[in-house]
Amino acid sequence: MAIELPELPYRTDELSPFLSKETMETHHGKHHRGYVNKLNGLISGTVHADRSLTDIVVHSHANSETGIFNNAAQCFNHGFLWDSMSPHGGGAPAGALHGALESAFGDLDGFKEAFKTAAMNQFGSGWVWLVSDTAGLSIISTGNADTPIVSAARPLLTLDVWEHAYYLDYKNERARYVDTFLSDHINWSFAEENYASDPAKGV
Ligand code: FE
Repeated sequence: MAIELPELPYRTDELSPFLSKETMETHHGKHHRGYVNKLNGLISGTVHADRSLTDIVVHSHANSETGIFNNAAQCFNHGFLWDSMSPHGGGAPAGALHGALESAFGDLDGFKEAFKTAAMNQFGSGWVWLVSDTAGLSIISTGNADTPIVSAARPLLTLDVWEHAYYLDYKNERARYVDTFLSDHINWSFAEENYASDPAKGV
């Protein structure tokens, strides 16, 4: 059972001008596809061959199989990223997530500030995540392919801060990329769904 490249939940030109068609075609069609192809080559004929993607991530992490972990985690992280962005995003979260966000960050601006700080302080390649655990919501960053699904924290949404995610459109201006994501393209509906299904939800 090979791991497949998921379809994008929107057309490659729908996030423009936040992210151009060229960026999305390259990021999804070349980078993400590259991780999928590499992973399938690495797991062929191994105990991982019939596992789900998340199981491959967890098992390869536990067994320190670095090559398989890096590619599997990048497959998971990118799939999660596509759903974390929306052509019609922005605004504020609703429902239970709204209250949890206020508890953790004071208000939406407090969340944005904390998220942006984490994005700017991630040195080199990595990811920024809003996560939930028994203590409530928090923001973490992970380097390279690292992913919260190997920890007790449940990811609610993410942003890719590898340069390949934004360099064609923003060059070195990571701050403007992060600001535009937070103001217009963050997919709160996806985060709300993830939060609602979190069994370890804090209070
Ligand atoms: Fe990426």
